[in-house]
Amino acid sequence: MNLTDSLGRKINYLRLSITDRCNMRCFYCMPSVGVVDKGHKAVLSYEELLLIAEVAVGLGIEKIRVTGGEPLVRVGVVDFLQRLAAIPGLQHLALTTNGFLLEEMAADLFRAGVQRLNVSLDSLNGDTFRKITRGGDLRKVLAGLEAAERVGFPLPKINVVTMRGVNDAEILDFAELTLSRGNSVRFIEYMPAIKENGWQRYCISGNEILERIATKFTLEEVDKGIFSGPSRDYRIPGAQGTIGIITAVSGHFCSECNRIRVTSTGQAKGCLFADAKTDLMQWLRPPDREGLERVLKEVVMTKPERHGITQDGYNHKNFNMSQIGG
Ligand code: SAM
Ligand code: SF4
Repeated sequence: MNLTDSLGRKINYLRLSITDRCNMRCFYCMPSVGVVDKGHKAVLSYEELLLIAEVAVGLGIEKIRVTGGEPLVRVGVVDFLQRLAAIPGLQHLALTTNGFLLEEMAADLFRAGVQRLNVSLDSLNGDTFRKITRGGDLRKVLAGLEAAERVGFPLPKINVVTMRGVNDAEILDFAELTLSRGNSVRFIEYMPAIKENGWQRYCISGNEILERIATKFTLEEVDKGIFSGPSRDYRIPGAQGTIGIITAVSGHFCSECNRIRVTSTGQAKGCLFADAKTDLMQWLRPPDREGLERVLKEVVMTKPERHGITQDGYNHKNFNMSQIGG
């Protein structure tokens, strides 16, 4: 089945957040105090998440990315992923993680049917990593990357939120990784989230990142794969991994947007930065499959044409990316 929005964009990708809790506290994503505990009842059960996924796949969703907060901290996640992977018609199941628990869990995740991992890793320097994540241990994440490779995953993609004055001195080191380790690396523009941080002072445009890489390496443009998402991809000749630029802020990939999001509390969103969200609870408790189908189609049909972050008068609202799933 084909799911198309009012502008003719094919919507085939669901980002499904299963928790807003996290074992790290990245300063660009969460307030230092963490998130307010919403209580057990406010969070969707695995049964409810599976129902949403089944209905979405029935409508035309082909790829699901499980995200959070940190998805690997939720008890029972492996069993949930196994059931998710078994949904008929789902072509691609991916997971985004901070990598902290990957060393212990990689083998189970692979057996459960997760096909690809994205690992967020913003610094290769232990001290900088600790500052960004407010206490995270880089060695654990590196061990997690190695474990993922050992158990048979394709080399995880590494996501780097690139921040001026924080980790931008490492842009070339990350580019080098695509040669030395073979992972693909995607540089993500800093998006407005936690208001007290501001965002413009950190945000480095994708073009500037490319210019900096080009001071040392030749870059060839790479054709996009079908599920490659919104990144513009390049390769250093001879490198196994690619270099992706996710210009969420500066380059409007909204015209190619293929995704919707559902949060762990059952809020469906057609756009990360739009105020509009639809509470799915009334179609989940008790479960109403037809109602869910109707409302998910509506979320798709009312997807805005584009986000307004770069427009004059954009009102930067405070939010934690961990509550939506990035
Ligand atoms: N905990 C997992 C992780 O860190 O990969 C999954 C959830 S996290 C919210 C998903 C993605 O959102 C991560 O790659 C993270 O770097 C990104 N993210 C969070 N806040 C962001 C911001 N202000 N700008 C750009 N990316 C952000
Ligand atoms: Fe946690 Fe991921 Fe947010 Fe970092 S980016 S605080 S690891 S949810």
